[in-house]
Amino acid sequence: MNSISISRTSTPSGSQPITSWLYSAVTIIPSPILGPTAQSVICPSCRSPITTEVKAETTTKTHFIALLLCLVGCCCLPYCIDSCKARNHYCTHCNAFLGTYN
Ligand SMILES: [Zn+2]
Repeated sequence: MNSISISRTSTPSGSQPITSWLYSAVTIIPSPILGPTAQSVICPSCRSPITTEVKAETTTKTHFIALLLCLVGCCCLPYCIDSCKARNHYCTHCNAFLGTYN
């Protein structure tokens, strides 16, 4: 007698592709419109309602005006005038840089 053994190799087809939903619940806070003075905004960094701290800092614009005023002999003037400097707004809560007003 010949015994025929049939071996069936069945591959398990129950594995389903794992679908991972990468749901990012990031609330985009638009950049606040900044003026020359302190503004009441919501900080995009710490999301606290804060009043910005304004620091006048010299920029390339300041140096450019200084260069022009060198021709008339008062090149140090733009460094003394805040309107020739950029107004950088910082968060008073987390100290994050919020933006520049030129
Ligand atoms: Zn902040």
